[in-house]
Amino acid sequence: MRIKAGDEVVVLCGDDASETPKKVTRIVQGGKKIVVEGVNRVWKHVKRGHPKSPQGGRLSMEMPIDTSNVLLYCANCRRGVRVGYKYTNDGVKYRCCRKCNANLGTIGKPRPQYAKKG
Ligand SMILES: [Zn+2]
Repeated sequence: MRIKAGDEVVVLCGDDASETPKKVTRIVQGGKKIVVEGVNRVWKHVKRGHPKSPQGGRLSMEMPIDTSNVLLYCANCRRGVRVGYKYTNDGVKYRCCRKCNANLGTIGKPRPQYAKKG
């Protein structure tokens, strides 16, 4: 499943699993893992001289979770859904909800070979 920063996802596993959609803030490892707002928060103990905390101490930060532990949120169905892929008439790939076929946002660059002719 392709997820972009800014997408809304539902977290399925772990301490922060819930039905409410949460925002993806960062993509890591080329899309294998994602960082989700408020999910998988840890206290990181840092020494003096850390750029984010010059005097040292504890930093609260979000750690990446695997993309297989989330589902893309469909505003139409109001829950996490499995996604399919389709192409628009211009050849742009987009994700669609498997339940209601709603467009869940485009991904990638336009590909002319998939554009509808005529
Ligand atoms: Zn849907």
